[in-house]
Amino acid sequence: MDLERLKAWEPKTELGMLVRDGKVTHISQALSSDLPLREPEIVDILLPEMEDEVLDVNMVQRMTDSGRRVRFSITVVIGNKDGYVGLGFAKGKEVGPSIRKAIDNAKLNLLELKRGCGSWECGCGTPHTLPFSVKGKAGSAEVYLRPAPQGIGLAVGDVAKKILELAGVQDAWGRTAGQTRTTKNYAKATFAALTQTRRQRMMEQQGKMLHIHTGMSKPQEIVRFEEVIEPETPEEPEGEAVKQEGGE
Ligand SMILES: [Zn+2]
Repeated sequence: MDLERLKAWEPKTELGMLVRDGKVTHISQALSSDLPLREPEIVDILLPEMEDEVLDVNMVQRMTDSGRRVRFSITVVIGNKDGYVGLGFAKGKEVGPSIRKAIDNAKLNLLELKRGCGSWECGCGTPHTLPFSVKGKAGSAEVYLRPAPQGIGLAVGDVAKKILELAGVQDAWGRTAGQTRTTKNYAKATFAALTQTRRQRMMEQQGKMLHIHTGMSKPQEIVRFEEVIEPETPEEPEGEAVKQEGGE
């Protein structure tokens, strides 16, 4: 998270203002608000533990009248390893700035996925895998993901593995079809499959059986803009994080 950028942030959208003013204090509240999420700072504030990973840096060369032009096409995944994952792309002349742009784009393409214990061989009742089988497609790449019992890990290809890890899915079986050599399409198809965890409407009872869980499995923490940009400075030396104890 770029603290300097956050301090200088002047929200331009309604959702941004609500987050700055402490009226929207949780990412799930932001995503269910029906207001478009168009400012990456919103995610910086509400999901400060977001991690990112560059999935692909693709060099694209093009001949023009003035000579050869090189551009980079970047694919990035971000996630909090607990129910939120984003996929972002960017193109540019330089790798570093393009990666940063792709990370920001991933924050604007954030998915609150549903997890569960969807494997009939498991029944542990915790949201460690997918709630049911899902599939996704992008270009000619197809990705199929299936719930797996605890301990199986991610029995999926490399790209899908990184995405599922950052999404907070610990166990899954997967297979692909079509052309998955293009990382960008493979990533898009995996993300599309995870999006399907939301689209499928389940009967309430079925949802309970599969222990379906939306978004974060940790208790929701209230995040306020002021506290993010001006963390309370601890009295003790050594600058360790302040642990707040006791009740309200
Ligand atoms: Zn289970």
